[in-house]
Amino acid sequence: MDIKDLTIDKVHDGLVGKKFSCLELTNSFLEKAKNENEKLNIYITITDKEALKQAKIVDDKISTGEEISVLDGVPCAIKDLINTKGVLSTSASKILSNFVPPYDATVVKKLRDLGMVMIGKTNLDEFACGGSTEYSYFGPTRNPYNPDYTAGGSSGGSAAAVAAGTCLYSLGTDTGGSIREPASFCGVAGLKVTYGRVSRSGITALASSLDTVGPFAKNVRDIAHIMNAIAGRDVNDSTTPDVSVPNYVKNLDNDIKNLKIGVPKEYFDEGIDSEVKASVEAAIKKLEGQGARIETVSLPMTKYAIAVYYIVMPAELSANLARYDSIRFGLKPENAGESLEDYYFNSRGEGFGDEIKRRIMIGTYVLSAGYYDAYYKKAQKVRTKIIEEFNNVFKKVDVLIGPTVPGPAFKLGEKLNDPLQMYLVDSLTVPMNIAGVPALNVPCGMTSSGLPIGMQIIGPQFSEDKLLNIGNIYEKL
Ligand code: GLN
Repeated sequence: MDIKDLTIDKVHDGLVGKKFSCLELTNSFLEKAKNENEKLNIYITITDKEALKQAKIVDDKISTGEEISVLDGVPCAIKDLINTKGVLSTSASKILSNFVPPYDATVVKKLRDLGMVMIGKTNLDEFACGGSTEYSYFGPTRNPYNPDYTAGGSSGGSAAAVAAGTCLYSLGTDTGGSIREPASFCGVAGLKVTYGRVSRSGITALASSLDTVGPFAKNVRDIAHIMNAIAGRDVNDSTTPDVSVPNYVKNLDNDIKNLKIGVPKEYFDEGIDSEVKASVEAAIKKLEGQGARIETVSLPMTKYAIAVYYIVMPAELSANLARYDSIRFGLKPENAGESLEDYYFNSRGEGFGDEIKRRIMIGTYVLSAGYYDAYYKKAQKVRTKIIEEFNNVFKKVDVLIGPTVPGPAFKLGEKLNDPLQMYLVDSLTVPMNIAGVPALNVPCGMTSSGLPIGMQIIGPQFSEDKLLNIGNIYEKL
C-alpha cells in the first residue's frame, strides 16, 4: 500500500476488500505525520492513541461483516480551534494552551459517528487571525512544497496536513479566506461553504457573521464526501437554516455545456502576479473548451472589501474574545495581581499575542461611542452594497472564476513586520465572507519556482454542488 496514492474511495475499497487493515493504514499515516511534523510543524497534537483505538473499532466492524460508511477508517486532521472532547484544543493561543474541551463540536461528532480516524489537531494563526500561521503561539507551519515559504493561514496546518500526505482530509475554518488561501498555497482543494451550511457549534467564535467551517482534501470528489457528512441544520447553531442538503457526490460529472462563467475584471487587475493570472486564464479556457460560456463582468465594490472586513472582523472578534479571562478555564497568569481587574489585565496581557491585541484595540475602537457611526455602521452599509453586487452578478452568470490569492505563497518572515501587507493578501477572499457565498479553491498550476497556484470558483448561496461539479470537471481535464 502506497499511502501517497490513496483517496477516500480507495481507502474504502481497500478496507472492504481486506487489502489492508485499518490499523495498518493508521500506523502508516501516523508515521508519516510524525516525520513531516518534525520538518513542517503541521500538528499541535498528534493523537496516536485515539487514532489507533478508532482504527481497531473499524477493523472489528469489518471482521464481523458489519457494513461500513465511506468515511469509516479514513485518516483526517482537525484544526485546533475545533473542539474535540478530551483532546487539547488550543486555538493556537497561549491563553487556551491548556484547554481540553468537555464536548465535541457538531462537525467532529458527525465525523466520529461515521468512523473518522483523527491523526491530530492542526496548527493555525492564533484565534485564526492571520494568513500564514506565523501568529501561532506554537510557531509557523512550513509549506510542504518549499519549507522556506509559508503554508498560508489561518488553517495552514490543515492544508499542509493534506498536502504533505499525513491524512486524506482535514477541517478548517474560513472567516476571510483561511481555507482557500492555505489551500491555494499548498496545492490542495478547499471549500469555503455558504454561511450557515455547516454547523459552527463547538468552534471558537471569531467573527460570528463571517465564520464558516469546511473541508480540505487532495481532490474535489473527496471534498464532496466530507460535505455529505457535515452539511445541514444543527439545533445547536441557529444560523444553520433548514435548506435541504443535496448528495454532493451525485452530480460531480454533469457536463458544463452552456454554463455561464463570469470573469470579474477586478480580479485580474494590477497587483495580481503574472504567473497566477496566466494559470487562471488558461484554466478558464479549458472550461470554455467543454462548452461553458465565458463573460467578463465587473465587481467595482471589490476594492472596498478589505476596508469593510478589517472593521467588521475586529469588531466582532473583540466582543467574542471578551470571554477569555482565565477564570473558569484557560491559562492562569503568572502573577494574579491584587484585584479582579489586575487578574483580567494579567491573564489577557500574558495570554494574547500581538495580532490579537491589535484587533481587540481596533475592534473596540470602531465600536466605541462617537466612532460607531463613522466606522462600524458605515462598514455595514458598504457590506450591504457588496452583497447586492454579488446578487446582481448572479442574475447574469452561474458562477465566477478568478485567482484565490493575488500571488503564490510568500516567504516566512516576509510580511511579519507589516500587518497591512498581511491583510492585503486577503483582498480576493474576504468579499465572499462578507456576502456569505461559497467558493471552492482548486489547484490550477505551478509557478516557475515550484509553488502551487489556485483558482476559486464562486457561486450564489447554497450552490456548493455546482462548484464541486465544475471543480471536478476541471480537475479531470
Ligand atoms: N487572513 C484573514 C484574517 O486574518 C483570514 C482569517 C480567517 O479566515 N480566519 O482575518
